[in-house]
Amino acid sequence: LQELEKRIEAKRKRVDPATCVYTQQFFNLYAEGIFNWGRASDYAACAFNLKGMNALNLKVGMENGTFMIKTYVCGLQELLGEDGIVARNSGDNFSTIFLKDRIDDVIAYLSGKEIFLENGSVNGFMSAHAGFYLITENCETPVELADILATAVRNAKENHTEPYVFYDDNLKRQIDEAKRIEEMFEAAIEGEEFLVYYQPKVELERYRLCGAEALCRWKHGDSMVLPFKFIPVFERNGDICTLDFYMLEHVCRDLCRWIDEGREVVRVSVNLSRLHLGNKELLSHILSVVDTYGIPHEYIEIELTETAIEVDYGELKALVSGLHEAGIHTSVDDYGIGYSSMNLLRELPWDVIKIDRSFIPLCNGDAEDEKRKIMINSMIEMVDALGLQCIAEGVETISQIILLKEHGCYLAQGYYFDKPLPVAEFERRLSDKDRKNQKGVA
Ligand code: C2E
Ligand code: CA
Ligand code: CA
Repeated sequence: LQELEKRIEAKRKRVDPATCVYTQQFFNLYAEGIFNWGRASDYAACAFNLKGMNALNLKVGMENGTFMIKTYVCGLQELLGEDGIVARNSGDNFSTIFLKDRIDDVIAYLSGKEIFLENGSVNGFMSAHAGFYLITENCETPVELADILATAVRNAKENHTEPYVFYDDNLKRQIDEAKRIEEMFEAAIEGEEFLVYYQPKVELERYRLCGAEALCRWKHGDSMVLPFKFIPVFERNGDICTLDFYMLEHVCRDLCRWIDEGREVVRVSVNLSRLHLGNKELLSHILSVVDTYGIPHEYIEIELTETAIEVDYGELKALVSGLHEAGIHTSVDDYGIGYSSMNLLRELPWDVIKIDRSFIPLCNGDAEDEKRKIMINSMIEMVDALGLQCIAEGVETISQIILLKEHGCYLAQGYYFDKPLPVAEFERRLSDKDRKNQKGVA
């Protein structure tokens, strides 16, 4: 009897009762065996996370959902046979380790498979986000392997273009770099290393400065780091929320100083990441910063990117309406490249639509230009019909300006006028505000 109990206990440690694949504990033992045996570089490993389980459970019910998971992962184990094992880490997270020459089979399987229920009535398509690693001698222990797999699958989930990623030296460098950036954040905020640059917005009828967008720069030592290096990192770990309020506060500080100095100021827009939208205090926090510096609300604009399907519509509506009631302008940033539904534009009281750079015709004989012209024309017409303002981003040439005016868009921002400027230089633009731009009127 003791012998039987021992065997049951051993099996319990080896097999996950819900899915009948191996346990993580057994996976570690198996990996350890491979490493001890000196055969690790014959193997590849992969951590994967099943896609869309919530939706699937809603569609077919919990019990059927569990059955389908089980069928899917056991199918992978069957496919591997003696060449490897599949194990469950937790919930819908699994890993597998197998001989390298089976890699194509595993990729194909995890890319998607139709699964039928026992009675054949309902079926679903199962697939996974997967992070692969072809084991090399740089990885020496199961613990290191687990670290690598966790990183790889996290990247696979964040990667919106490919459902799977391979962990390699390049990915490792990116991850190390991101970690370094994360670690420097707090000191950078305290040391005021983030600077506000101001990019002028220009009114095209008389070429007057009519506003500015605040854009972040990181002065780190002697170098000036651009947002594409650090914004995505801070969007991943949530620090972007701190950074956005730092920017808002610094913009308010500058505006306050300009007003005190008797300058004629313009409205400044601040970018707000959509990550803020879960925060119930967001609106009151924005207002309290603006009011602490005594800035008239008409001088502040908040830019939000289009987010219709990813974000709680109710929260977005509450924010945009709340800002509108408080007299703070709002704009839809990067219009056209996201998921903006017509409802998002119609039902929320936006003030400005910023047409994304990718829609601005290049006016250089580019083959795609005709399409851009058609699209930008209908965008401008629609924005006009909705009674909103329309601004073109990324305007670089005089031909683009002529074209925009022909189509009825009278606001622009872009290198043709100015790059984002350090504060002192922008202050000179403010002083020149009433003089015509040197470039003349087109
Ligand atoms: P964005 O909000 O779409 O900002 C416009 C970007 O286009 C800026 O890049 C600007 O320098 C660039 N740009 C402006 N005119 C032209 C042009 O004529 N040609 C070209 N090729 N580019 C032009 P930047 O400053 O590198 O910022 C990149 C992105 O980083 C911003 O895109 C925004 O999404 C994000 N970002 C910057 N600062 C902040 C911030 O304080 N908070 C948040 N949440 N995001 C920020
Ligand atoms: Ca923007
Ligand atoms: Ca933009």
